[in-house]
Amino acid sequence: MNKPIYLDNAATTRVYPEVVDAMSPYFAEYFGNPSSIYSFAGKAKEAVDKARSILAKGIGARPEEIYFTAGGSEADNWAIKAAAEACGDKGKHIITSKIEHHAVLHTCEYLKKKGYEITYLDVDEKGSINLEELKRAIRPDTILISVMTANNEIGTIEPIEQIGAVAKEHGILFHTDGVQAFGHIPMDVDAMNVDMLSASAHKINGPKGIGFLYIRKGVKIRSFIHGGAQERQRRAGTLNVPGIVGFGKAAELAFAHMEDHAAYETELRDYLIERVLAEIPHSRLNGERQKRLPGNANFCFRFIEGESMLIWLDRQGICGSSGSACTSGSLDPSHVLLAIGLPHETAHGSLRLTLSYENTKEEIDYTVEQLTEIIERLRGMSPLWEDFCKEE
Ligand SMILES: *Cc1c(COP(=O)(O)O)cnc(C)c1O
Repeated sequence: MNKPIYLDNAATTRVYPEVVDAMSPYFAEYFGNPSSIYSFAGKAKEAVDKARSILAKGIGARPEEIYFTAGGSEADNWAIKAAAEACGDKGKHIITSKIEHHAVLHTCEYLKKKGYEITYLDVDEKGSINLEELKRAIRPDTILISVMTANNEIGTIEPIEQIGAVAKEHGILFHTDGVQAFGHIPMDVDAMNVDMLSASAHKINGPKGIGFLYIRKGVKIRSFIHGGAQERQRRAGTLNVPGIVGFGKAAELAFAHMEDHAAYETELRDYLIERVLAEIPHSRLNGERQKRLPGNANFCFRFIEGESMLIWLDRQGICGSSGSACTSGSLDPSHVLLAIGLPHETAHGSLRLTLSYENTKEEIDYTVEQLTEIIERLRGMSPLWEDFCKEE
């Protein structure tokens, strides 16, 4: 195998050649600043407008409700900090979940230091939040609910429409981190009752460093970047025209192929899950069996240390992850796996494999074979495993 087998599509994705082609004229040819008046800049402005329309249409929004950002993290930061500031007079209580991306969790921690109170909702053993618990958590001073559409580690899809309905009923702003879901599963801002939604291009075969925050018309939150009048004066800075064009193209392709890609990935994912659970002893699947992102598989293997598994997989040309890209390098087990109730030891032995429609059955077969060998070898070196086997 010369090319790596790339099974880390929740961390980032390959930029489609069509996307590169769409972007390339906007570097050296149509390089004009879309805010300029002369007609030469009109090319860039038109392309930005087109991308904005595609992105808006994909979630049932209006183009003027899309605000470009430098990615998902910026969109999450903006939504939460700006809502906190805008509603600070009404109250200082924010509700989120224990399994959010760090872009949400660390923003909430920052606000906590500024005097806000945060409630972190528990999730059940599959990673779903409980609507009754959400309702009980609401107080007169609750100003924002932020719950992700789908989890980046275990792929669980949250009951967003119901959460949105609860938020609406109580007149509380609702933000969803839709980065993993956007372009992968259908989303509609009205059906979901969301006021703000974060998305990012590089999770849907677009370029890195470009995303958007959807802000429902009428929601009054402050500007994120102060400066020029770009993005209706809410996010200043010369627009990243090639990035925006690439995001638009990637979204166009993602929406056009959503059904067939999801069907293909789901089949391949289920094949992977079945083989792993059947062939590797003491393995478990984390997250929901059905209500999960099409490409997501997340396992735990007892008596295995996730990092060693990843290193050995890498030597065999397989790219996987044990949690999120942001936690690698730290020895703490994933906060998501702890939140679904796994003990520390088990959470340490996790492996996330996230597929794309470009992966093949042959790649999955090879991966399962290599994984089986690696786990056997690592367990062979583990004194805990030896003790366990003696007891059995
Ligand atoms: C990747 C990701 C982000 C961060 O997006 P960037 O564009 O990399 O900043 C936020 N939330 C979730 C759920 C993600 O998967």
